[in-house]
Amino acid sequence: MYEHILVPIALDHGNHTAQALELAQKLKKEGGRITALTVIEEVPPYIAQYIPEGQLEKNLEEARAQLKAEIGGIPGVKAEVILGHPGISITEYAENKGVDLIVIASHRPGLQDYFLGSTAARVVRHANCSVHVVR
Ligand code: ADP
Repeated sequence: MYEHILVPIALDHGNHTAQALELAQKLKKEGGRITALTVIEEVPPYIAQYIPEGQLEKNLEEARAQLKAEIGGIPGVKAEVILGHPGISITEYAENKGVDLIVIASHRPGLQDYFLGSTAARVVRHANCSVHVVR
């Protein structure tokens, strides 16, 4: 059983989200917590200069609303949206926030079962805590 479970959520990965959150609830200690984390890819400075002012904040707000909608009615799940690179930022977040388990889907829906997606693979290799891969 785990104290703080991190469930990284790619907003376009559909039904894997519910499955991962359900599992996290089963693996959570009584009194433990779950954080659902979406990482929005950071735009390099040479592109950022062409993005209209306020657009980035708007995108983050939209992502927050979408993540909350995906979490739906599951109680006690905190929704977090951060800027960064998914493969790197997920493990960094876990280290900084005292996460003791990451529950992550193996790949985007529709790919073959033995396949490990690029983000999931990096998280498995680099995380300091346990990682549960949902297939
Ligand atoms: P693929 O390479 O097939 O797209 P990924 O490894 O990117 O597969 O995705 C597997 C899982 O990694 C997702 O279901 C999600 O749990 C996590 N993940 C991928 N991208 C993100 C992201 N931007 N933010 C949070 N989690 C992500």
